[in-house]
Amino acid sequence: MKLADRLTNLGTETAFVVFSKAKELEAQGKEMIHLEIGEPDFDTPQNIVESAIDALRNHWTHYNPSAGLPALRQAIAEEINRTRGIKIGPENVVITPGGKPIIMFSMLALVNAGEEVIYPNPGYPIYESAVNFIGAKAVPIRMREENQFRLDVDELISLITPKTRMIIINSPQNPTGSVLTKEDLRAIADIALKNDIYILADEIYSQIMYEGIHESISSFPGMTERTIILEGFSKTYAMTGWRVGYGVMPKDLAIQVAKLETNFNSCTTTFAQVAGIEALKGDQSAVGRMVNKFRERRDIFCDGLNRIDGFRCHKPAGAFYLFPNISKFGIKSAEMEYRLMQEAGIAALAGTSFGAFGEGFVRFSYASSTQNIKKALDKLAKFVGKL
Ligand code: PLP
Repeated sequence: MKLADRLTNLGTETAFVVFSKAKELEAQGKEMIHLEIGEPDFDTPQNIVESAIDALRNHWTHYNPSAGLPALRQAIAEEINRTRGIKIGPENVVITPGGKPIIMFSMLALVNAGEEVIYPNPGYPIYESAVNFIGAKAVPIRMREENQFRLDVDELISLITPKTRMIIINSPQNPTGSVLTKEDLRAIADIALKNDIYILADEIYSQIMYEGIHESISSFPGMTERTIILEGFSKTYAMTGWRVGYGVMPKDLAIQVAKLETNFNSCTTTFAQVAGIEALKGDQSAVGRMVNKFRERRDIFCDGLNRIDGFRCHKPAGAFYLFPNISKFGIKSAEMEYRLMQEAGIAALAGTSFGAFGEGFVRFSYASSTQNIKKALDKLAKFVGKL
């Protein structure tokens, strides 16, 4: 088949590839522990489910405006103002099917071919894919283990050129769980203001924090006007399959992003948005319970890995991933991913799934039961003993 040239630049998220391979092996009778997919294993809280069922019964089954239901945009604006300490309105919010489209949409709207976007590496693979796809230059900034996987501000300054149009930050981060400090954010904000650069702040894990409170770069003076916050319901409310997320951005940009939404999806599922209002305004106790569970699993898994000779695991401050260093085993990340699946029955992701600087690491998601995590630790100890 003769496909269009532009597809050569499109990357992907290998979590889905590994997931289907692991499922295939399971179908052949192999026991598999799934630590590859980045989604909460909890069910969506019942009040949110009930609200969607009510919405379906009450005819919320039609199209709605491309930017989203006015009542949800309003609820999001209130939530963002409360949590980020800024002052935005519903006109700054565009609702999308998951937070993910905000990555491609903000680049399509703001970045020309040939311009540069700085993005975290290792980092969520869709950033690099989106930059390459639109014909811009993807400039990686390394998330260094020795810096708790936070970016180094001096390194960031050294990467800025007259062509830099956007910097992507992600805190808490996928795949390392790192959290940028207030000082980091202040320094990045200064760089953005001085060089007229937009910030795409992927804050999808903002509620999944184990230490301190979440800080947003949008809160610094002058930054609400040049930040696009990517947020959503997938991680906080265990709603990955519902596909509801959003971007918060300057009003003129929101109009253009809504136009992109019209072109790509028309709108986001109507009854799922009604449930989104319940998610934000209803009982929040499930969120705290899930975060406490994640914390417990993080501690068991990370401490357990550090007891196995060869793994070196930094304890992450947010999200639900561990990113241990595996370089002592003397095998590449991709081989480790393959052998973990084939020989240990553990589905995990090579660090290089998150960019070239992920070599020497693997990612385990701990959005899995404590029982599974303990079993995985036993299997890992046996597996590395034979390497
Ligand atoms: N950003 C990051 C860093 C993620 O890890 C993910 C999902 O894994 C997303 C965005 C997309 O989330 P959603 O399911 O809301 O599209």
